[in-house]
Amino acid sequence: MDELSSVRSSLRVVSGDPLSLEVPAELFSPAEFAQFEGTVAVDEFECGPDSYRFSEPLSWHADVSNTGDALLVTGNVTGEARTDCARCLEDAVFDIEGEIEGYFLLDGAEIPEGADEDEFDRLPANHVLDMESLVVAAIVFELPLVPLCDEDCKGLCPTCGANLNEGPCGCEKEQSDGPDEFELAKNPFAALANFSFDSDESAD
Ligand SMILES: [Zn+2]
Ligand SMILES: [Zn+2]
Repeated sequence: MDELSSVRSSLRVVSGDPLSLEVPAELFSPAEFAQFEGTVAVDEFECGPDSYRFSEPLSWHADVSNTGDALLVTGNVTGEARTDCARCLEDAVFDIEGEIEGYFLLDGAEIPEGADEDEFDRLPANHVLDMESLVVAAIVFELPLVPLCDEDCKGLCPTCGANLNEGPCGCEKEQSDGPDEFELAKNPFAALANFSFDSDESAD
């Protein structure tokens, strides 16, 4: 849970779709089940050093079932997150398909023997479930440690700052492109390093 505590997020709820969920009375009978869904617009989402943007509201869906002792919440949240690529600073886009999971003990439910009260959420007296923390946890789990526009992103040239995904910049010539003059001067046979003397290879 340490990763989560370092996350700061500001969630803005689309009107008519609250991110808190008031549990309807019928769900308090054992084995009852209900489905909920909504959308939530997120202004900004900070995860470690990265700040994510969402151009469209996130969609969420939750199944809530009464297990007798608790309300079990399972569901998902989907959307598209954008941030700056850690190598080239262009847009890095991620499909979010996070799993929502929550467990809220009902009034009077006993905590399992040997377990700690802190390990369990209890349904608040006002019967409103905090969906925001569940959605935030689901999103955080989906975000990469190092956001990249592409696994093979070539990044920026450290000399001129050009985006190397758009093609080589002039600087590369001055560095190395296989055995260059400098290498040849040091070792006249360097040019032969990739040459195969083994003629048996082509014969079968
Ligand atoms: Zn990149
Ligand atoms: Zn360059």
